[in-house]
Amino acid sequence: MAIERTLSIIKPDGLKNHHIGEIISRFEKAGLTPVGIRLQQLSQKEAEGFYAVHSARGFFKDLVAFMTSGPVVVMALEGENAVLKNRDLMGATDPKKADKGTIRADFAQSIDANTVHGSDSLENAKNEIAYFFRETELQKY
Ligand code: GDP
Ligand code: MG
Repeated sequence: MAIERTLSIIKPDGLKNHHIGEIISRFEKAGLTPVGIRLQQLSQKEAEGFYAVHSARGFFKDLVAFMTSGPVVVMALEGENAVLKNRDLMGATDPKKADKGTIRADFAQSIDANTVHGSDSLENAKNEIAYFFRETELQKY
């Protein structure tokens, strides 16, 4: 299987509820290694730019407000089949519909405060990683 990179964000609720460690631990145990990592307060512009694909949706304002409500952790995760594996670990967008044992089922409160973001395709992963990280901020180990 191919080694891929994907972008993960631990959203503000994940930090406020002190789940950074548990979430990263799940990634590492599943073979997804953080090769870039930063704690960051997103500006309104950064959040709007990141979620531009959703700008016409009714929930866009709430999404941007939530994503700027506190700091986030942005990570580039590397591993076999990283894009899909991360999506599997995250669970469904709506935590009420997420499978037991997934991050969103275990930690998320609502469809807004759903604890994690993960790229949904390899192409989007490349663009999303480049949105947050320079190549020199990504490490090999
Ligand atoms: P994801 O890839 O599973 O994060 O879901 P999407 O890319 O479809 O949506 C991005 C984010 O927007 C989600 O993680 C949710 O926080 C939020 N979102 C998506 N759909 C809805 C919705 O129907 N209502 C609300 N309030 N938020 C939504
Ligand atoms: Mg998405």
